Amino acid sequence: MVMKRTQGFLKFMFVVMLTLALAGMIGFYGCTSDDDDDDNNNDDNNEPWVPDNTAENLLLDQTYRIDLENINVVYDFYPYDYYVDGSATAVFHMRPDQVRPVIHFDFGRYHIELQEIWLDNELLDYENESDIKIITYTETTQKAIEFQRDLDPNSIHDIFVRYRINLPYEYPYFFTDVNDIDGYGNEELWPTLNTPHELVRHVITINVHSSEDFNLIASGYVVESSADGIQTWTIDTEESIASYTLMFIVLPAADAEYRETLINNVPVRWLSFGGEASIDRGVGMLESWLPELETNLGPFPMARGLSVFLLSGGGGMEYYGGTMTSVWALEHEVFHMYFGCSTVARTYRDSWWDEAINMWYEYSEDPNFPAIGDNFYSDIVSGRSPIAVGFDTRGYEEGARIMQACAMELGGRTQMISFLKHVHANYTFKPFNTLDLLYYLQTYGNVDMYDRFMQWLYSEDSQTTAQDWEYADAIAEKHRVDLTPPAHLIEKYRKK
Ligand SMILES: [Zn+2]
Repeated sequence: MVMKRTQGFLKFMFVVMLTLALAGMIGFYGCTSDDDDDDNNNDDNNEPWVPDNTAENLLLDQTYRIDLENINVVYDFYPYDYYVDGSATAVFHMRPDQVRPVIHFDFGRYHIELQEIWLDNELLDYENESDIKIITYTETTQKAIEFQRDLDPNSIHDIFVRYRINLPYEYPYFFTDVNDIDGYGNEELWPTLNTPHELVRHVITINVHSSEDFNLIASGYVVESSADGIQTWTIDTEESIASYTLMFIVLPAADAEYRETLINNVPVRWLSFGGEASIDRGVGMLESWLPELETNLGPFPMARGLSVFLLSGGGGMEYYGGTMTSVWALEHEVFHMYFGCSTVARTYRDSWWDEAINMWYEYSEDPNFPAIGDNFYSDIVSGRSPIAVGFDTRGYEEGARIMQACAMELGGRTQMISFLKHVHANYTFKPFNTLDLLYYLQTYGNVDMYDRFMQWLYSEDSQTTAQDWEYADAIAEKHRVDLTPPAHLIEKYRKK
């Protein structure tokens, strides 16, 4: 009996063990094959995951259709009459399989009066639908001008536009006013494509018609000349850059302090209305900040250095080799020279990562800065189409905590900074999306964060609470630039 029972028990245990082993094996193989199906967009289980951007690239080509070669704009600025006459040429060729060109040019904010619009050597009628149609997309507020002509995909073409910009200010200045959160860029000032991945060399000439001296600071290489009572600046980005990252501001020299400094061998040009916007304070901050960034992330990315319009209130906006910013946001905006203005997102929705990396760098100086939880889920990326404008403001907070999770996975802040330096060294001016960034992280650190990235950023829904949203909106609001001149300056020109 005992024996029998023992034999029976052993037999029973054998069956249990076998079942468990088989279940384990099935589980093991099942798990592996699930992972492969989820993680790898290819059928070969031995190949490591690589992002497949085919569909996204096709959508971008079908939406934007042209590849800009260069943009050349001449402005005649009549400061005391508050208008600018512009003429702009955009040279381009067609993207793969595209024949019908589009361009972005938004007349709204500056009440632009269009005078002439040409495609190649043909003068077109903007009001005539057989020449031009305005097309809209369900996924974005961005409109496009579609030319009703099919072009030779093998040759170079150009669009030429003459127009008047009516400045909505009470003060005689003229400047770029980009907001990447809302997603409006420089398509309000010249014809271009308002999308981060379209990189193009810009040459902008500004003629100021005034007997008084003006000052200008801008992105890129700036040359000043003057003749016959006209002060002229030519701004050349030299590099091909995203159009919405080009900055300039020109204003009466008597009203603002202008200074040129050399900090850690980086030329820095300053302009300020004074008050809280103390150039001395700004210089003091960059004297430690630029060396730190150059040590941690690499050489300063812009050959011609940095232009800073320092403000006494509001937030800040980063541009290529330039920023308009209050003192508190100066370091944040200068950090963007590395992430945002030289490494660039392929689409607007991906530009959550430049805010996330930037905020992470700041927050992670506190070793207790919490990483995002494994259970967090959101639609920070998936909630927008690749052709939508603007980015999700949760990039600042939740995004920074996602970067902290990446840092933990790599081994800590030092390792994460080395990874960021690696990304900057290898992918400057090579636009990349969120999954490309994940791929760089995985191959650099030999880590697997695919499932977490999918859940954190590409879920269909999100666990963001109303309070989190309020916080995200408050951060976005805090960063909003305020370029209103001091009251005494507005008053000065009111009397003229
Ligand atoms: Zn920022």
